[in-house]
Amino acid sequence: MDRLQNFINGEYVDPIDGKWLDNYTPSTGEVSGQIPASNDKDVAKAYDAAKSAFESWSQTPIETRSRILLKLADLIAADLDTLAKAEALDNGKPLALATKVDIPRASSNFRFFGNAITQFASEAHENLASDSINFTLRQPLGVVGCISPWNLPLYLFSWKIAPALAAGNTVVAKPSEITPVTAAMLGKYCNEAGLPPGVLNIVHGKGPEAGQAIVEHANIKAISFTGGTTTGAAIARTAAPMFKKLSLELGGKNPNLIFADCDFDKMLQVTLKSSFANQGQICLCGSRIFVQEEIYERFKAAFIPAVEKLKVGPSLNSGIDLGAVVSKSHMEKILSYNALAASEGKLLTGGHQIKLEEAPEGYYVAPTVIEVATTQCRLQQEEIFGPVVTIMPFKTEEEAIALANDVPYGLSATVWTSNIDRSLRVSKALEAGIVWVNTWLNRDLRTPFGGVKASGVGREGGFEALRFFTEPKNICIQYKTNT
Ligand code: NDP
Repeated sequence: MDRLQNFINGEYVDPIDGKWLDNYTPSTGEVSGQIPASNDKDVAKAYDAAKSAFESWSQTPIETRSRILLKLADLIAADLDTLAKAEALDNGKPLALATKVDIPRASSNFRFFGNAITQFASEAHENLASDSINFTLRQPLGVVGCISPWNLPLYLFSWKIAPALAAGNTVVAKPSEITPVTAAMLGKYCNEAGLPPGVLNIVHGKGPEAGQAIVEHANIKAISFTGGTTTGAAIARTAAPMFKKLSLELGGKNPNLIFADCDFDKMLQVTLKSSFANQGQICLCGSRIFVQEEIYERFKAAFIPAVEKLKVGPSLNSGIDLGAVVSKSHMEKILSYNALAASEGKLLTGGHQIKLEEAPEGYYVAPTVIEVATTQCRLQQEEIFGPVVTIMPFKTEEEAIALANDVPYGLSATVWTSNIDRSLRVSKALEAGIVWVNTWLNRDLRTPFGGVKASGVGREGGFEALRFFTEPKNICIQYKTNT
């Protein structure tokens, strides 16, 4: 049976205690191999490697760091087919999606931050009243921890690692135990790109063991975490009293506000994607759809048949729109939410598991639409993170804003309208870190990325990420004047 290994100090190694976890293929439900069940001993070993590498890496000229990251980006891009296939099989997502989005974006994360670090500058403040000049150094933090989820495995793993490395830190990173394969492959590319041993260390294992060991390590200076809100709260409870820097990118329950004056055809096409892309397992999916009452029936009459046409199948099959959800337990969680339709709303389509003849043990869920009459129900308040959306009508702009904001989360929101004034009014009033108007998942890596309320603390992306992974130190020098 295939076994993945930890990547520590530039070498692939077995877990110290020799314990392993099974890794499953969502499309078939079969065990595909094993991964290290690492613990605090493996994290300590990874930390030691990262600590030894820090002095040299933090003093490495920016041009050299940049060149290595750009090379890493090239190597990932060159192995697109292999990586995309591995990602699709490990996660359950359609191969086409991994080929078009996941792997190209993982490559562009390294390319973006490889370039961004060459443009990253700090500030100077001259004070004429005291004949002094201040300048602010931006120094790397030291050894940092990066912990990522399973929905966009290599993409989100690299989204953290790339800025951390670019800024001169060394890293102990843990991918989700549920989707470890492409993260494990990354070590090989790091060596080929010339990343010195110990600069990036990848430890596999369960969150409460390997992940927790990273969070509670006394000398790991910062934690960049993406995952669920409950996990984020647990991490904050451990890390905050240790005064670690924390970036928490957490869950979402994002509203999709559709006004009667929108471009209906474009909205419909994009709403299918924002509802069901990656089986609805993108933190930015618009899982709560609100439609202005004038077009509510028209929307339902167009949306439901389009949802019913979506093809669900194994990752490597061509022509599929949705693959399998990531695990058996996640499928069961999604189905338990679908069952709430009976008491909280009306099931318009889907709601059930799909048993494919060719893969009867795979984790397939039919794309599901549930009509609700209130935001005060579990289907509207709790993150499901699957191919499930609720729909509900609204009358006025004010009502739409109130419904959208009536949720503990605040990651992203989508607004469909042709009225520029409304688009600005509504965008300003929405409680979200990211608002898209007449578009969705339109990403520019320079922009701040993150949420408000229970969706997190801090921002990733662009210089925000480089600021997070550096410590500002102000130096003030007084000079003598000739007068
Ligand atoms: P989890 O919170 O379960 O896990 C995220 C990562 O944290 C995994 O690597 C997990 O390890 C690890 N982990 C779990 N417990 C601990 C712990 N006590 N200490 C340290 N690490 C721990 O999230 P999921 O993987 O289920 O991902 C889905 C969630 O991620 C959704 O809520 C989604 O909204 C959110 N998300 C947010 C994004 C954003 O940018 N805001 C983007 C993408 C997803 P393991 O899996 O091995 O147990």
